[in-house]
Formats: sequence, structure tokens, C-alpha cells
Amino acid sequence: MGHHPTGERDAVETAQNVETRHSAPPVLPKAGYSGYVASLLADAIAAQAQAYTPYSHYPVGAALLTRDGQIYTGCNIENAAYPLTICAERVAVFRAVADGQRDFVALAVVTVNGGSPCGSCRQVLREFNAGDLPVFIGTPAGQYRQTTLAELLPDSFGPENLPGTVHS
Ligand SMILES: [Zn+2]
Repeated sequence: MGHHPTGERDAVETAQNVETRHSAPPVLPKAGYSGYVASLLADAIAAQAQAYTPYSHYPVGAALLTRDGQIYTGCNIENAAYPLTICAERVAVFRAVADGQRDFVALAVVTVNGGSPCGSCRQVLREFNAGDLPVFIGTPAGQYRQTTLAELLPDSFGPENLPGTVHS
């Protein structure tokens, strides 16, 4: 399902208000609803700028919106011992969970070419969301497409598949 930006000024201004760290905000797509998509993408773009990617040179930024309106960002962080690298999406999720947040309502991910979240991140997100999580996958230029966690990770395995497990 494609969604192409219109670059309308009100969406840009909304993003600028939210993301003051980004000195030159790119033109963002018009948010279809309340403007939160543009804001979330702007935060993901700002997070992408913090990525530590000396090996892949593939910076990724993520912004995760909680039900109470908090936004947790993440960037990918690589390591000379390659397998220790962690993705932007998991950094965002882990920051949120460590801050007491588990109820997520939207995720924005920004890569240079609109790449999708990896399988590991999809499963980590699935731990805290049954699948209806909207995921906006964009580029620094402001183009994005919308999908859901369930579309990214169909027929998934989650906490409810472990009978008798108590989640609190
Ligand atoms: Zn990942």
C-alpha cells in the first residue's frame, strides 16, 4: 500500500515543532490524520542521524509512539565484533520498555532507501503487540509507505502461545 508525500506546509510545520534538533527538516509527507505520522517520521529521521554505522554505512532511525503519547527513538549501533550490532527498532523498543512502556501505537522507521525492519526486530515488536501496530517505513526525503506488524510478520508466534504464562 503506497503513500506518496504531498509536501504540504502544515505537515512540515508540525514536524518542525516536534523535532527541534533537526536544523533543516526535509519535506515530509502530509499526514493523513492527526499529523502524528509526520512528527514520528521527523523523529526517526533525527534518530537516523545518530546512527553508528562505520561498517555497513546503512544508518537507520526509528521512532516508537506509546499510547500515552511518548516517543522513544533508536538508531542502529554497530560493533567491530559484528554480531553485537543492534538495530534502531530494537533500541527504540528497549528504551521504551526500560522506561516502563509496553503499549505501542505506531512505529516509524527511516532508512536511506526505505528498507524494512529485519526479522529479529519484527519478533521483538511482536512481543508487545499482537499485530495491529501501524508501521511507517520511510526515507530521509520524506517518502513513506504504511504497513502493519501483522503484514510484516504473518502467522507469528507470541506470548499467548505459551499457555499459563503470566504477563503483567
Ligand atoms: Zn532489526
